[in-house]
Amino acid sequence: MAAVVTNYAGYVNVPIPTGQVFRTGDEQGWWFDSGSVALDFAHTGGFASEPELLDETATLTTWVADRFPEVTAAAVDRDLIDARTLRSAIARIARAIADAAAPAPEDVDVINLFAATPDIPPVLDGGSRQAGRSRARIGQALAAIGRAAIQVFDGENLERVRKCSADDCDLVFYDESRSNNRRWCSMQRCGNRAKVRAHRARAHPVPDLT
Ligand SMILES: [Zn+2]
Repeated sequence: MAAVVTNYAGYVNVPIPTGQVFRTGDEQGWWFDSGSVALDFAHTGGFASEPELLDETATLTTWVADRFPEVTAAAVDRDLIDARTLRSAIARIARAIADAAAPAPEDVDVINLFAATPDIPPVLDGGSRQAGRSRARIGQALAAIGRAAIQVFDGENLERVRKCSADDCDLVFYDESRSNNRRWCSMQRCGNRAKVRAHRARAHPVPDLT
C-alpha cells in the first residue's frame, strides 16, 4: 500500500485540469473525468482492453502539454517508455484498490521512484525576474503525475478509488466529491443507462408468478 503522504495539490499554483475524451470499443468518444490527473493518465491505455491513446511520442507531448503548460520540450522515445511504465503501475494499483486488493510492492516502487524525481516547481507571480517557468521537461510532468498518484492512493483516500457501478463497466475513478457518493464513470453514459433500465423495469415489471 502506498504509504507516503505528499500533499501535492497544496503547492501547485493552478489545479491540474482533469478529464479527457475517452473511447472504449466502437462507441463514440465521450468525456470521462476520472477525478485525478493520475487516473486520467492511467486511462490513456494503461488498463487492459483500453485503446492506446499514447501511441507515439507526439501524442504524449500533446497530452502532457494540455495539462502542464510549463512543459515545452517534446517527448522523446525514453519519455514514452517511462510514461507507459508509470502509467501501468498507476493502473494496476488503481485496479487493485478498486477490487479491495493490496497493490503489488513493485508497482508502489515505480510510483515512488517517479515521485522522487524533480517535478514542476511552483512559481509565485509578481517577481521582477522572468523565472524559468516555461522550461519543464516531460520527465518533470511524470514526476508530478507520480505525486498526484500518491495523493490518490494515500490511505486516507482509498475508499474514494472505485469502479463505476454499472455491471458492464469497470472504469476506475477517484471520487473527489464532498459527499463521496459518485457512482458512475459518467452520468451521461452509465448513469443514464442505469436510469433507463430502471425506468423500463418499472414500466414492464417482471410478472410475479408465485
Ligand atoms: Zn461506467
